[in-house]
Amino acid sequence: MSAYPRPIILISKCLGFSSCRYDGQVIASPLTDSLKPYVEFITVCPECEIGLGVPRKPIRIILEIGESGEKKTLVQPATGLDLTETMDDFTAAYLDKFVTVDGAILKSKSPSCGFKSTKVFSSAGSRDCLHRQGTGLFAEGLTGRYPYLPLVDEKQFADSAMRDHFLTQVFALATFRKVAGSGKMRELVEYHTCNKLLLMAYDKGTMVRMGDIVANHRKRPFEKVAEDYEQCLREVLSGQAGVGSAINVFMHAAGYFSDRLDSGERALLEDRLQKYRKDSALLGELKGLFISWAVRFNVEYLLQQTYFCPYPEELSGTLRQV
Ligand code: SF4
Repeated sequence: MSAYPRPIILISKCLGFSSCRYDGQVIASPLTDSLKPYVEFITVCPECEIGLGVPRKPIRIILEIGESGEKKTLVQPATGLDLTETMDDFTAAYLDKFVTVDGAILKSKSPSCGFKSTKVFSSAGSRDCLHRQGTGLFAEGLTGRYPYLPLVDEKQFADSAMRDHFLTQVFALATFRKVAGSGKMRELVEYHTCNKLLLMAYDKGTMVRMGDIVANHRKRPFEKVAEDYEQCLREVLSGQAGVGSAINVFMHAAGYFSDRLDSGERALLEDRLQKYRKDSALLGELKGLFISWAVRFNVEYLLQQTYFCPYPEELSGTLRQV
C-alpha cells in the first residue's frame, strides 16, 4: 500500500460523514467508508454551506422552457425561495479556492450534488417531474470547471466495473500529481513507462502521443511538458477501456513470455482470453494469471505495469467483502 499515494477525493458530506440531509439523516455508505485508509476525503454539503438548516424543506430544480430558451432555477417550494444565485455564487467561490482533487463522489439525485440523476420539474408545484437525468447546481459548476474530473455518485460506486474505472483514474492521477510535484523529468519518464499498458487499454494512439510528449525532443521546461502530459492523461482516463483494447494489451504483454509457456499454458491463455471476450467480469482473473507468469518468468517490465494492479490490492479485497 505504501507504493500508492493517497488520492484526494471530494465527497458529499451526507455520504457517511454528517447528518446534513434535508430530513436530518446521514446515508450509511460502507463502500466509501472502506476507502478511508487509502484516500484523503474533502467533504462538502453545498446546501448547508448556503445557510439552509437541518432539517430543511426540500428544494428542487425547475426548468422553464420559454421563447427565449431554457431557464434552470433552484427553488424551495415550501418557502418560495429562489436559491439559484446563492448556490451559483457559493459554488463559484468554493471552486475558486478549490485545492486539486483527484476525483469526486457525489450524492445521486440531489438538486445540488446529483450528476445526471436528479429530478427536474416544470414548476415549483408540479407533482410529476419532466425527467430524472438532471444535474444539481453544485455538480454542474464542478463539472463545468473540471470537465475531466473523475466523478461517480454512490450508486455508480456500488457497481464493480464503474468503481474499478473510478479507482483506476484517481490513483493514476494521484501518482501523477506526485510526479508533477517532483519537477523531475526522470520521474515523468518512469511514470509513463509504468503506465504504458494502462494507457494502451484506454487508447493506444494517445499513449503513443504521450510518449512523444515525455521524449521532449524540443527540450521544453518540465512544467510545460508535465502540463501537456496531464491534459492528455485526464482526457484519456475519462474514456472507457473496452474489451477489445484490453485483449490487445494482453496479447502485447504475452509477447514477453509466451515462448516460455508450455502447450497447456498456451491453451489456458487462449481459453481465458476467449472467455473474457464474452464476460468482461473475468478481467481480474486474467490480470492475476498474467501477474503470476510475470513473476515466474521475472519480467520486470510487466511487474511494474500499473495496469495489472492500478490501486492497492488490499483495497480491492476490502471492497469485495463490503
Ligand atoms: S446531497 Fe449534497 S447538498 Fe444534499 S445533503 Fe448531501 S451533501 Fe448536502
